Amino acid sequence: MKIEEMIAANRADCSGCEACANICPKNAITMIRDAEGFAYPKIDSELCIQCGRCDATCPALNFTKKTVTELPPTFTAIYDNDKILRHSSSGGMFTALSEIVLRNGGVVFGAGFDKNWHVLHTSARTIDELENLRGSKYVQSQIGDVYRQVKEALKSTSVLFSGVPCQCAGLKHFLGKDYDNLLTVEIICHGVPSPALWERYIGEVVNAHEITHVNFRSKRTGWISTMDIIFADQGHIIIANAKHLYGKLFLKGISERPSCQACKFKFPNTQSDLIIGDAWGIKDFAPETYDKRGVSIVFINTAKGKNFFEQAKLKTNPIKFVDALKKNPRVISPTFADSRREKFFADLAADKDWVSVMQKYYSQDDEKTTKEKNKQQGALYKKNLQEILSPIRQQFAQNVLIVASVRDNDGQKLLVKFFEHNLKNCNVYFLQPKDEGQFVCKENFSGFNFDLKDTVALTDFIKKYNLEGIFVEKPLDFGESSTVIVDWLKNCGLPVKLFKVKTN
Ligand SMILES: Cc1cc2nc3c(=O)[nH]c(=O)nc-3n(C[C@H](O)[C@H](O)[C@H](O)COP(=O)(O)OP(=O)(O)OC[C@H]3O[C@@H](n4cnc5c(N)ncnc54)[C@H](O)[C@@H]3O)c2cc1C
Ligand code: SF4
Ligand code: SF4
Ligand code: SF4
Repeated sequence: MKIEEMIAANRADCSGCEACANICPKNAITMIRDAEGFAYPKIDSELCIQCGRCDATCPALNFTKKTVTELPPTFTAIYDNDKILRHSSSGGMFTALSEIVLRNGGVVFGAGFDKNWHVLHTSARTIDELENLRGSKYVQSQIGDVYRQVKEALKSTSVLFSGVPCQCAGLKHFLGKDYDNLLTVEIICHGVPSPALWERYIGEVVNAHEITHVNFRSKRTGWISTMDIIFADQGHIIIANAKHLYGKLFLKGISERPSCQACKFKFPNTQSDLIIGDAWGIKDFAPETYDKRGVSIVFINTAKGKNFFEQAKLKTNPIKFVDALKKNPRVISPTFADSRREKFFADLAADKDWVSVMQKYYSQDDEKTTKEKNKQQGALYKKNLQEILSPIRQQFAQNVLIVASVRDNDGQKLLVKFFEHNLKNCNVYFLQPKDEGQFVCKENFSGFNFDLKDTVALTDFIKKYNLEGIFVEKPLDFGESSTVIVDWLKNCGLPVKLFKVKTN
């Protein structure tokens, strides 16, 4: 298949990564914006020599799913410097990594503003130049010829390339091989809004003033999503992203690129050395490391990424991969588009008064579709997590089954915690009676039910989850069912250890 056929069949397959335009030896590909304001490749047939390099380079056309056999080491991290933290969206992870490269005379690529506040990829060779790349810009960043610039820079120096996951994939496919002196850092990505929408927004909504500063993630009111636009005449807009036109349309998934709802490049299909984002939910999983100035989350994908992470000036703390996802599902799963997305863009194209169209969609909330969307989004997240974890489960050295007497949810959690703490790396499954003749086996408390008479199912379960040992609570009191379970335990072929919980 060719890129043009792929796009004609399904626009959502093209992320706009611009790898095809960068690779073309004849400069025959131009990125042209569609009616929604997103850029897609257009081939000039007069210039094209049919070499096929664009098709061979496209990360979407050449996509293959990855599976991982171990989870990436996951950390919270803070660059403990007031000024850097104030100007960074999260915990300053990007600056900490960039400084290593710049100190060694290297070059950093990332998303910055041009003089009109349009967003594009550019480079920084000094700490001062880094300022423009700092901070999230909630707009699709134009790559231009940056992949070519990266390739050129790699001939003589070390390079850090940062961008959304599809851009890291675009760069990797463009380069076609790994470079020891290249570090790729991708940011967790909710999705990217239309550049044309952003340009109209600043042009028409705030155009009464000359803008001197834009910050999509100002920390004036703390580490939340707040946008700050400052004008030359000292006026400014500062308003929570969830409560202003542009930000709300972004968060609701109305203004994003079609590819973002079907994003192919989230973990584990990532192509980068490190993934960075916000440590949302930190108060639940690592409250002692919470910092109101902002905290980063970091996933280490490669040995090179680990090496840089260890060199960076950071306060770090290891956390569980699964905990990090609970309030940040975008690491593995896409945002679903609002059902009004198409109509919104059609209205925008038809109506000259963009502000009133944005206001209409901003104020209308269709609760029913939002609920349905959240439900579907949640189901996809669970499916993706299951897909990532199941091959890894097979790898654990210690998978244990706890057979215990009946206790409430809190009691079960305590017992699981006790085993997880004492058996490092083990995966704990929990079997207890449910009703007479029925057992429920819980893994992180979403259960599998077994009919007690069906000991074959229990045996299959042992094999499927590679169980290596069983801990049985003493005294084993499952009422009338006790003899069946005792017989099964005796014959199951696994080592069985008894344990007793002290009640005082
Ligand atoms: C569109 C978008 C959606 C995001 N969604 C999430 C999310 O759902 N969950 C989450 O935890 N984090 C998300 N982030 C990432 C987060 O907002 C921070 O960018 C990230 O944590 C880095 O923060 P920092 O403090 O390390 O450094 P900062 O200095 O704040 O980092 C800036 C980095 O972001 C890159 N960047 C900024 N804007 C863009 C852009 N438009 N395109 C490509 N790269 C860009 C820069 O190149 C630089 O590497 C998103 C960022 C963007 C731009
Ligand atoms: S086939 Fe070759 S020349 Fe033609 S657009 Fe693709 S890369 Fe360019
Ligand atoms: S290389 Fe990127 S921009 Fe080009 S067709 Fe493929 S996904 Fe789209
Ligand atoms: S959600 Fe996926 S396709 Fe969309 S910008 Fe982010 S990485 Fe690219």
